[in-house]
Amino acid sequence: MDGTLLDGRVIYAVGQKFGFKFEIEEIAKASKVPYERSQRAAKLLKGLTVSEFTGVVKAIPLMKGAMEAVSQLKNENYKVGIISDSYTLATEIVARKLEMDFHVANRLEVKNGVFTGRLKMPLGWEKIGCDCRQSVCKRYHLVSKAKKYRVDMVNTVAVGDSSSDRCMLENAGVGILFNPLEGNIVKNVNCTVRSKDLTLVLNCLK
Ligand SMILES: [Zn+2]
Repeated sequence: MDGTLLDGRVIYAVGQKFGFKFEIEEIAKASKVPYERSQRAAKLLKGLTVSEFTGVVKAIPLMKGAMEAVSQLKNENYKVGIISDSYTLATEIVARKLEMDFHVANRLEVKNGVFTGRLKMPLGWEKIGCDCRQSVCKRYHLVSKAKKYRVDMVNTVAVGDSSSDRCMLENAGVGILFNPLEGNIVKNVNCTVRSKDLTLVLNCLK
């Protein structure tokens, strides 16, 4: 979602707005295991209200071409969804806007409309022996959605832009890098798009 469906990144936008962007950058650089970085980032949200958070999410523009790309895929009978290491409060806004079929992300614990700083993580790597150790193993959730919708893995398509997408991109039928953040993060991708226009992703499927 961040940097692909959205022309922006949720946690950075929230950090920018509420004064903890520097801390987010520090956590991103820290060499701890990935899911611990997600837990530490969630702690920074403690005390914010749900509406403060969703207000920032709603202000992040969709990527150019997102609406068109998703509706064209849906016309071609693809099941389209979001697998993100962001938060369900963000993915459900984007999934609803784009009329997508599913979304998977971390769940922020809320008490009386306020974040507690605790995070419920979907994980998945521990079940399949994936070495990503992320709060959301995107490979695990791609495989489980493919099973749910009775789609062979060879017919799955994944789009991502960062190392957190590696396990998903390398295992999808078609792995597409969209404006990759880091140099050569994934070796076995089928297609790379270097322009901020999601409709170009459709060219990778022809
Ligand atoms: Zn993984």
